[in-house]
Amino acid sequence: MEANNNAYIGRCAICGQTRVTPPTCAHTEDEADVWATMNCSCKEGEDARRQMTAKKRISEMFPELDGALKDLLYEITEYMRQERLGNTASIKLPGDVIAKIKSGAKFVNIKRVEKKEQTQTL
Ligand SMILES: [Zn+2]
Repeated sequence: MEANNNAYIGRCAICGQTRVTPPTCAHTEDEADVWATMNCSCKEGEDARRQMTAKKRISEMFPELDGALKDLLYEITEYMRQERLGNTASIKLPGDVIAKIKSGAKFVNIKRVEKKEQTQTL
């Protein structure tokens, strides 16, 4: 829904609350809904927001991977969060990139390790 000043009114996908999005944060109704969902404070949406943030961060860290591999990394982090896997994982990805995932009592970290060496004969 379009509000005044080119701002949109977004709706939280979890609880349905609406909020006016700042003009720079959404340029379509879909973007407004995503913004409203991510910026909502509803308790029932906490887990969904955490998952959306995790997927976005994985996508930003490993932009070269296809969707299936990004999903796989995300699934591993979720299994570790639920303590259904051990607390460390190291996955060799295409292009000499390694994803190292580690979990603790209240966190799951993912690290991108990339070996770049250069040798020249002079
Ligand atoms: Zn909400």
